[in-house]
Amino acid sequence: MEEEILIFGHKNPDTDSICSSIIMENLEKKLGNKCKAVRIGKINKETEYVLNYLGIDIPYVENINNDQKVILVDHNESTQSVENIENAKILKVIDHHTMNFKAPYLLYYRAEPVGCTSTVLYHLYKEKNIEIEKNIAILMLSAIISDTLLFKSPTCTEEDKIVAKELEEIAGIDVEKYGLEMLKAGTNLDDFSEEELINIDAKEFKKENAKYVIAQVNTVSIEDVLEKQEKIEEVINKEIAEKNLDLFVFAITDILNSNSEIISLGKKANIVENAFNVNLKNNRAFLEGVVSRKKQLVPNIDKNI
Ligand code: MG
Ligand code: MG
Ligand code: MG
Repeated sequence: MEEEILIFGHKNPDTDSICSSIIMENLEKKLGNKCKAVRIGKINKETEYVLNYLGIDIPYVENINNDQKVILVDHNESTQSVENIENAKILKVIDHHTMNFKAPYLLYYRAEPVGCTSTVLYHLYKEKNIEIEKNIAILMLSAIISDTLLFKSPTCTEEDKIVAKELEEIAGIDVEKYGLEMLKAGTNLDDFSEEELINIDAKEFKKENAKYVIAQVNTVSIEDVLEKQEKIEEVINKEIAEKNLDLFVFAITDILNSNSEIISLGKKANIVENAFNVNLKNNRAFLEGVVSRKKQLVPNIDKNI
């Protein structure tokens, strides 16, 4: 029997990671390849909205066997991937992040400087002359809306907007209306413990001697989230001790007004003051106009850490 290729996005999966995995499975199958989209973490509320809307599901895998053939979407760094990724056989990477990747063998690596992996996947369908079905169009749109915060994030490119316009016709949905409902679904944080809250969308980064995590939650009320600040700090400090982190930045992003409040902890907590030209008060600072980890948080922190 031909071996099944596993397709997955990053840990603490976001809507792009999940949707792009399912989309890639569809594309690979149409090209005659045996494969399966899986997730390597818990589905968030925003993605749940999308999957419920379409009535689809995606299985969970905890780790993978040695030599498992895989396709990575929406990430390339091993710190953000599945357990045992070091021993996998990576066949393809489809991404839109900075490359921090090396493999001692040839593979298909496709990254584009766009706002979303699904935008790259849209291009692949076009190149292969494969029709995009309605469900796939809705998945692609959902991913683009999520990653670009309804086209308001500085990560959003002209190309994402052009692709979304074309997808809107196939999908037959009102993008603004659907998008806002989807994003709002993701801001319902009631069911999450503080521990889960800081892991809904956390990414770990390494730079020379520094190891840090930037976590983000979307909200329509920063104040609501800050009510739990004390407990949140407690679990962040625990995480810092357990993972031996130099810095943990927790960004609470107001998706309606496009700003973020950050909580910064760890022995390098103060570097955010230089990085964003702010003063930390009670471990917190307000970052006007900051919504993107990739374009705003990571580069400024990386420069200063
Ligand atoms: Mg992602
Ligand atoms: Mg993405
Ligand atoms: Mg994201």
